[in-house]
Amino acid sequence: MRILLVEDDNLLRAQLQAALEDAGHITEAADNGRDALFLGETGSYDAVVLDLGLPQLDGLTVLQRWRAAGRSMPVLILTARDNWSEKVAGIDAGADDYLTKPFHLEELLARLRALMRRAAGQASPVLQCGGVSLDTRSGRVTVDGQPIALTSHEHRVLEYLMHRPGAVVSRSELTEHIYAQDHDRDSNTIEVFVGRLRKKLPAGLIETARGLGYRLVAP
Ligand code: CA
Repeated sequence: MRILLVEDDNLLRAQLQAALEDAGHITEAADNGRDALFLGETGSYDAVVLDLGLPQLDGLTVLQRWRAAGRSMPVLILTARDNWSEKVAGIDAGADDYLTKPFHLEELLARLRALMRRAAGQASPVLQCGGVSLDTRSGRVTVDGQPIALTSHEHRVLEYLMHRPGAVVSRSELTEHIYAQDHDRDSNTIEVFVGRLRKKLPAGLIETARGLGYRLVAP
């Protein structure tokens, strides 16, 4: 999944980025409020980790402007210890969850998984569709109970589609959510990944919506 990480503490940002990438997420990072505002307004993210104490523009203002502009991605705010009023202000400004510093990386990752699940209308951490099961905690994928091996790109494509069963996902949207860098993006290779995925999954699970993109359907 594609995550925007906003944190001005260089060490913490590097640690969080490494943990998010280890968990298989595409991560873009910003170290100030102005860059964060721009990225959140123009990019497409499955979730945002937003520190509130930021240079140039504070996190609360960034969040309010995103919401005023109609940006509805899940946002988890990072707040200072013992500052309950900051949490209240953050939630009132449109945050979906918060973590108080210091926190454990595992807790951040678990809360992000829950936010992305809920944004997709999924309550269980194990996503299921037509005999395919994807455990968002371990990344394990099974078909009729048998584990299958996927490359990281194949896994990202499947995870993104499994968060949106029945919805048509365009090639450009998939491209944006599986590549880290703009210059890597080539929507033709998406067809290659989808072709390889189809060979590993039950027939008919990934439908092509001609001219529009792909759709996950329970055969
Ligand atoms: Ca800060």
